[in-house]
Amino acid sequence: MGKQEFVKEITSRDVDFAQWYTDVVVKGELAAYSGVKGSMILRPTAAAIWENIRTEFNKHLKRLDHENVMMPLLIPESLLLKEAEHVEGFAPEVAWVTEGGNNKLAERLAIRPTSEVLFAEHFRDIIKSYRDLPVLYNQWANVVRWEKTTRPFLRTTEFHWQEGHTCHETFEEADVEARQMLTVYRDMVRDLLAIPVVSGIKTQSEKFAGAYETYTNETLMYDGKALQLATSHHLGDNFAKAAEIKYLDREGKEQYVQQTSWGITTRSIGAMIMVHSDDRGLVLPPRVAPTQIMIVPVMQHKEGVLEAANELKAQLKADFKVKLDDSDKKPGWKFNECEMKGIPVRIELGPRDIENKVVTVCRRDTLEKSTLPLDDNLNENLKALLDEIHENLYETAKARQEEKTRRASTKEEFIEMIKEGGFVIAPYSGSEQVEDEIKELTGATPRCIAFEHIDMDLTDVKDIWNGEEAKLMVHWARAY
Ligand code: AMP
Repeated sequence: MGKQEFVKEITSRDVDFAQWYTDVVVKGELAAYSGVKGSMILRPTAAAIWENIRTEFNKHLKRLDHENVMMPLLIPESLLLKEAEHVEGFAPEVAWVTEGGNNKLAERLAIRPTSEVLFAEHFRDIIKSYRDLPVLYNQWANVVRWEKTTRPFLRTTEFHWQEGHTCHETFEEADVEARQMLTVYRDMVRDLLAIPVVSGIKTQSEKFAGAYETYTNETLMYDGKALQLATSHHLGDNFAKAAEIKYLDREGKEQYVQQTSWGITTRSIGAMIMVHSDDRGLVLPPRVAPTQIMIVPVMQHKEGVLEAANELKAQLKADFKVKLDDSDKKPGWKFNECEMKGIPVRIELGPRDIENKVVTVCRRDTLEKSTLPLDDNLNENLKALLDEIHENLYETAKARQEEKTRRASTKEEFIEMIKEGGFVIAPYSGSEQVEDEIKELTGATPRCIAFEHIDMDLTDVKDIWNGEEAKLMVHWARAY
């Protein structure tokens, strides 16, 4: 099979974005479908990316004195019912266990869609006094939400995530925590996945069921649709009241704790694909790629080529996740495979390169080729190249996001801009009717009130939909 045929297997992202995404996920060997609709198999590349995210996030947790715990998978129905708003929000998505062996259970057990109530009950048992606070817990887990429409990584029935759950003495401390974790997510997706976000607050209609406030990082995909990438909730004392999580304060008075919860999921892998990949397949940001450099020998049957390739691998192994493809496939085929799998840098090494003491380097993001001296400085040069690739991916995504973020001043403009894709910023009165109308006419939802717009002076500014006083400046978009 020639080069053309190989690449043709991926639908162009400008022709059919949904099909392109599926092609990249499957052909890039990230995920495979399973027997249960909406649950998927994370293949080694995706599992390794998730592990890298996990390692990085654990570093942040350690730095911020948080501890990992492991809670049970099942939640008794009576426990789940305790926080009314929470139940109402999650009820349509809960999967239930009704039998154990051959016996019907006396009480149904929910498979955790999230673990707020489990943590709440545990917190009630372990927190007695202000001396026990703050409690800063996190768990790595899989959860199940019975989603109606699913798409690999972005919205799956079962997904992997971390969920942080913390308890604090005061409302303000909980707010600092919730905002801090949103910042950690923002920095992590920027530094690891090269994804830019808009950080802000959810409107009341979009906040987490049972939360006082939801903070969010929103981002735009290549096709102009938005994606909620990670959220951090200030729960106030809602769950504490439902579960009676009380402590004796410094004056000996009984108080409810103030809580937060926050999470990032395997959805982030879907975002990474939709932001960076192209018609040749995956494009993996170097810091998260399980293989950062692939060495492809050219004319490997010639004397000394494989030997030199192995030597090069040994040299690079000290600093990179490097592999050598010495299989009997044709080099052209190997090049295509590297591209399809998104390996950030491919090094070609043939007899002429060896003779000239150089390597041919091809970067996945721009597909540009260059030569680097095959000497002791090669590792440093490649480190710089990987950083450059990361920066380029981030800057390209950021420029696209900025280009696709526009301010609408009339209804007509709003409708047209949403149709074209991207974020549309517009003043909003907070009216539910307007939100419903926008949804119906354009499919857009309020994504967030960006932090930069929180304290904006909106005197004399009107909601462009109903002419009423504007209370908020909102980022709207169609979203995944
Ligand atoms: P929530 O607990 O609802 O705030 O969700 C936490 C995060 O999980 C959200 O910010 C989403 O990015 C992500 N998420 C929600 N539902 C799914 C799903 N079905 N599959 C993958 N990720 C999800």
